[in-house]
Amino acid sequence: MATQPVAQPYLVGHSASATALLGLPPGALQSEYWQQILAGNQIAAGSQPLSSVYSGHQFGVWAGQLGDGRAALLGELVPPAGHGGVAQEIQLKGSGLTPYSRMGDGRAVLRSSIREFLCSEAMHALGVPTTRALCVIGSDHPVYREQPETAAVVTRLAPSFIRFGHFEHFCHHGLQPQLRQLADHVIARFYPECRTDTRLNGNVYANLLRSVTERTAGMVAQWQAVGFCHGVMNTDNMSILGLTIDYGPFQFLDAFDPGHICNHSDNQGRYAFCKQPNVAYWNLYCLGQALLPLIEDQDLTIAALETFKSAYPQAFDACMAPKLGFAAVRAGQRALVDALLQLMATDGVDYTIFWRRLSHWVQQPAAGATTPDAAVRDLFMDRDAIDQWLLQYSERLSDIPRGLAAILMLKTNPKYVLRNHLGELAIRAARDKDFSVVAQLLQVLEKPFDEHPALETFAAFPPDWAGSISISCSS
Ligand code: AMP
Ligand code: MG
Repeated sequence: MATQPVAQPYLVGHSASATALLGLPPGALQSEYWQQILAGNQIAAGSQPLSSVYSGHQFGVWAGQLGDGRAALLGELVPPAGHGGVAQEIQLKGSGLTPYSRMGDGRAVLRSSIREFLCSEAMHALGVPTTRALCVIGSDHPVYREQPETAAVVTRLAPSFIRFGHFEHFCHHGLQPQLRQLADHVIARFYPECRTDTRLNGNVYANLLRSVTERTAGMVAQWQAVGFCHGVMNTDNMSILGLTIDYGPFQFLDAFDPGHICNHSDNQGRYAFCKQPNVAYWNLYCLGQALLPLIEDQDLTIAALETFKSAYPQAFDACMAPKLGFAAVRAGQRALVDALLQLMATDGVDYTIFWRRLSHWVQQPAAGATTPDAAVRDLFMDRDAIDQWLLQYSERLSDIPRGLAAILMLKTNPKYVLRNHLGELAIRAARDKDFSVVAQLLQVLEKPFDEHPALETFAAFPPDWAGSISISCSS
């Protein structure tokens, strides 16, 4: 398969740490050679680009065959010996028509490419499992969506881009040898322990399902803890490795609203923030259905899926503990968190700013264990309620040195997340060929727990116009 060239490509942004992940020298992407390859204009020696077929459920409905409509896998890069990294697949998104483009043009627009690039690297820095992004290449190549735009190409990296939808595809078509080959490949490369696991009667494929269930539960728990809404949790957007994949209409919450819908195309709110754990479970059922011909036992399949019911709450508690300064999950923590989230929802409190301010409150030794802090209190309308909560929280903290709790909190509660309006600022500048905002944002998002005094504005409350940003599936 060939990628389609774009005229005069230019580098919009690149990630130094993703460059290093490939074992490439720091300045590599500045070169004409790499820019031509990553624009899809030239094929690197040894690369045979391919696009894969998959199917899937979109918005709860079987959507049939999909596939990489605009993604080309260039190959796998094995880092040099001694580098210590794992092999990464290199994929171009937006590099033109593929055998699975259906009615699409195989392209991706600049705005969605910048969002995917920045968010991939932001999530990685937050410790959330994700595909990585090496760079965005821009062009003046016209692309038509609701209005004329320009094409861009994102280079994505992951140990594998295999999705639930790949399994659904082969199952749906009754292609059992291919289904088995795919599962055996995934097990051999990524889940070798399933071969020797004695749980679930030692059924290798049931153990694969259980492992994917656990990883997916862990990933979604991290989304909920950091306030990330994916927006399009279709089964074709679910990674078999439990990585966050396919950044489209995603959003980091500004004001905390459990029912928040970040995808303008999601009329029913199927993928609302609070529904994400349930949707993950639903999607895992689709994967279970697809693996059933290999597992050959319905009860084992259900048993594998049932692990979600304990894995998710455990993972969520484990994510929330350090946000509160607890080194391990504490008795009564769930009630404390539930009460807090309720208050935050009622008053529409900014999610990221709350956690950061709470961390600083814990850090200030002068505050005393029970003195409510203005910076935290001021976020709430119901001051009595938050005072009460802070009192309860202080009691739970009383046997932990506050300095230690604060250290944990400040490296768990980010100061910088990729809010919609920040992405928008970077996109607007990039449209005028000013890529400095992309670079500045990347700088803070790569170190989201650090202070960046010169870029303090990126940590501020969203401006009023942020509420009018509308992000749909159009990309
Ligand atoms: P997404 O909503 O981005 O996950 O895309 C759903 C499916 O449509 C995937 O199979 C994509 O590869 C495909 N697709 C999305 N946009 C395009 C496009 N512009 N051209 C071709 N295929 C596309
Ligand atoms: Mg997709």
